Amino acid sequence: MRPIDIAVAGCGPCGLATALLLARDGHRVTIFERFDAAQPVGSGLMLQPTGLAVLDRLGLGDAARAKGAAIERLIGRAGANGPVVLDVRYAAMRRPVSGIGIHRASLFGLLHDAVLEARIVIETGRQVVGSALVADGKRRLDFADGTSVGPFDLVVDTLGARSVLAAPTGRDLPYGALWASLDWVDGAGFDGAALEQRYRAARQMTGVMPIGTSPNHTMPQAAFFWSLRANALDAWRNRGLAAWADEVRTLWPICDVLLDQIGDSDQLTFARYAHRTLSRPASTGLIHMGDAWHSTSPQLGQGANMALLDAWALAQGLRSSGSVGEALAWTVHLRSDHINLYQNLSYWLTPVYQSDGNVVPFLRDRLVAPLSKIPPIPHVLAMLVSGLVGAPLGRLDLA
Ligand SMILES: Cc1cc2nc3c(=O)[nH]c(=O)nc-3n(C[C@H](O)[C@H](O)[C@H](O)COP(=O)(O)OP(=O)(O)OC[C@H]3O[C@@H](n4cnc5c(N)ncnc54)[C@H](O)[C@@H]3O)c2cc1C
Repeated sequence: MRPIDIAVAGCGPCGLATALLLARDGHRVTIFERFDAAQPVGSGLMLQPTGLAVLDRLGLGDAARAKGAAIERLIGRAGANGPVVLDVRYAAMRRPVSGIGIHRASLFGLLHDAVLEARIVIETGRQVVGSALVADGKRRLDFADGTSVGPFDLVVDTLGARSVLAAPTGRDLPYGALWASLDWVDGAGFDGAALEQRYRAARQMTGVMPIGTSPNHTMPQAAFFWSLRANALDAWRNRGLAAWADEVRTLWPICDVLLDQIGDSDQLTFARYAHRTLSRPASTGLIHMGDAWHSTSPQLGQGANMALLDAWALAQGLRSSGSVGEALAWTVHLRSDHINLYQNLSYWLTPVYQSDGNVVPFLRDRLVAPLSKIPPIPHVLAMLVSGLVGAPLGRLDLA
């Protein structure tokens, strides 16, 4: 398609990757971000072979691997040394792939630097409040200070799960998690190549994942998380850090070395999960992508990877179409099946690991360990966690 004017709303991983891909294809792209300085929010995340395939095409995959930590296995136990309730090994796929635990700031830094290098304009301090159609199917973007910009041939909504450009849909999930990035402690007993989790039923979960270095830390870091019901957040604050730390230690004693690094509850960020999927992700001159299109609990660790695939799909759509409308329809077609599959899988799997009941975790604690050894289940689980079920890469010419 001929070069067009594109506004990307939001400067998260989806917005940055989208801007980069579209600018490289010759389009005129501007990013609009609410924060005064574009910045990442949160601790670490897991890049899967899907997201890495897009980063590789952007020329950023090796840098992500170098900054992050290779994750060979996801392992969860009921209690510190209890039965295995989650066991996924990438090696079961018999392919030379792994996940990468990466600090959000590292992923953000890689994409952000590439965007700056490509001379893409990022307008910060721009709180988007809406977008309206103007003449000829073009759109403007409206801001909280009463100003507007445009017209644009295309507005890409990458404002995340609480996007103001998308119609409200779905629901907040009861659980979220407290997260912190802490120093990785060698010799403490954590596996340097695994995402490890410990559960009490499905009501409590703590996890540790190596995430490599970050722009502010040359020492390796760990993402540490503790699941919490959103309606228990105030009670958690009121009880104080010491009581909570005792609870974590009781569940998984070796976390002591991480808890020692938390002197203030402000070091922990609470993230609440929402499960939502837009039924109409595109309309005239507007497409919702990444978490703005589909968000869920991070139990399967797919969100940022899905966002990168969406960005790649839009670039493909624009390349292969003669009009914006056709390109958006093609993009939605390219991604819908994979997104719907993973949204459904996350919806059904999340309560197995985060919910209040006793029956599901009771069955989980007895069934997962034996089942996850029976072929082809190890292979299927690895494909699932890798984001590869539904063959999304082939469909996007990324295989
Ligand atoms: C605790 C937790 C753990 C996770 N772990 C993983 C994982 O292991 N692997 C994985 O792949 N995914 C994980 N995810 C999901 C992942 O973080 C998201 O899927 C991903 O960040 C989505 O990227 P995005 O760019 O679509 O949205 P976001 O990252 O939410 O970015 C949205 C951007 O838009 C900006 N913005 C929002 N509203 C406005 C506005 N009105 N005006 C202007 N700017 C605005 C925001 O400031 C932000 O910069 C996790 C999520 C959580 C909460």
